[in-house]
Amino acid sequence: MSVEFRRHFSMEGPIAFAERVLRLLDEASFTATYKYAVLLALLDLCMEKVAKGGQPAEVFTTLELAEKIAQLYWDHTLPFYTGSRSKVLRQFAGRPGAQAKIIRHIEEFRARYAKDPSARLKVAREESSGAYLRMLRRIELELIEDPLPRLQRTGAVTESFLYTINWDTEIWRRRREVTAYQRGEPSDFDNRIMLRPGVGLYLVQLNGLLRPIIQRRWAAMVARLNRLEEARLEEFLFGAEREAVTVVCAPLRELQDDRCFYCDRKLGRVQGRRPQVDHFIPRARYPNNAIENLVVADERCNGNKGDHLAASGHLERWKSRLDPESHVASQLAEIATRLSWDADPTRSVNIARAVYFPLPEGYPLWLLSNEVEPLDPGLIWRILS
Ligand SMILES: [Zn+2]
Repeated sequence: MSVEFRRHFSMEGPIAFAERVLRLLDEASFTATYKYAVLLALLDLCMEKVAKGGQPAEVFTTLELAEKIAQLYWDHTLPFYTGSRSKVLRQFAGRPGAQAKIIRHIEEFRARYAKDPSARLKVAREESSGAYLRMLRRIELELIEDPLPRLQRTGAVTESFLYTINWDTEIWRRRREVTAYQRGEPSDFDNRIMLRPGVGLYLVQLNGLLRPIIQRRWAAMVARLNRLEEARLEEFLFGAEREAVTVVCAPLRELQDDRCFYCDRKLGRVQGRRPQVDHFIPRARYPNNAIENLVVADERCNGNKGDHLAASGHLERWKSRLDPESHVASQLAEIATRLSWDADPTRSVNIARAVYFPLPEGYPLWLLSNEVEPLDPGLIWRILS
C-alpha cells in the first residue's frame, strides 16, 4: 500500500473514524469493561450537549464523565438471577473473585448509604448527596488512573484519535495533586477531556450504529466473565429501567386527557387501546428515561412505532410540551418532583437534536399504523432549533 493511499484512508471522515472505534473494541488488552463504559459515556455526553445549531460539545471534565459512568454501571450492581442463585455480575477478568473497582465503589455506596438497596440512582443521590459525591470522586480517580490514559493505547503507542488529556499512565505518581484537585485545593491537575476535532460530530452521527455494537460487545464480555447466556444479559445490562416507567403512566394519562399521544384516540381497556408508556426518542437511539421523553400511547400505536423515530407532526407536539411557557411543561416538572423522577428538558431536547439532525433527507419517519413520512431537514430544523 502506498503512503498516499494509506494517508487517504487515515484521513478523517465518519467511516474512517468508525473503523478506528471498531478496532479499539477489538483490542483485547482490557481486563475490565471500562473501555465500553467510557465509549458509551462519551457518546451520551456528546448527545446531551448538542447546541441549538447542532454542534456537540468538545470538552468534558473528568467529573462529568464519572457521573455518566456511575449512571451506566448503576443497574449493573443489582443482583442478576440465574436459577435459584443471584449475584452481582463480574466485570473484571483478574483473579477469581476480583471485581472492577468502579463497581465496588457503587456497591459500597448502595450498601452503606442508600436506604433502599434497589433504589433508582436519582433517589439515592437525593437521599445522600454527600456520600454520592464521595463515590463520584472515587470513580473519577479510577477513571483518571486507569481507563482514560490507557484507552487509546495499542501496545506501546498511544494514538489520541478520540481525545487528548494532559496526563498519562504514570499519573498515579501524582496522586497527591489529583486528590488536592478533588478537594478543591490548588493543584496543577488539568481535569479536561478534550475531544479531537470532529469527534463530537462523528459520535453523534454514528450513534445509531456504534451504540448497539458497543452494548453487544460489553454484554459479550460480561457473559464470558460470568459464563452466562448473552441475550438475557443485554436486556439486564441496558434495559433494566424499562419496567420502572409504569409508575408514570397514570399521571401522564391525566396530562394527555386520557388520549393516545400519537393518534389522539381515547385510551381504554379493550385490546389495542390499552395505555403503554412509550419512549418518544426510542431507547435504541438513546436510553432517556427523563419525564419529557415519556408519552402514553395505546398498545397499537406503541407497537407500530417500535424503535422508529416519530414524524414531524409528533415531534412538533412533543417539543411544544417542553416550551417553558406551556402549562404542560410545568405539570411534567411537577410529576417528576412528586415521583422523584428524572427531569431535564434542555438535555432531552439536545438528545432529540442529536438524533434527528444527522438523518438524511427522505429518511422514513413513523406517522401512524404502517405509514411513514419522508424527513424534511428544513422542517426538523425549524422544530428543534
Ligand atoms: Zn394511538
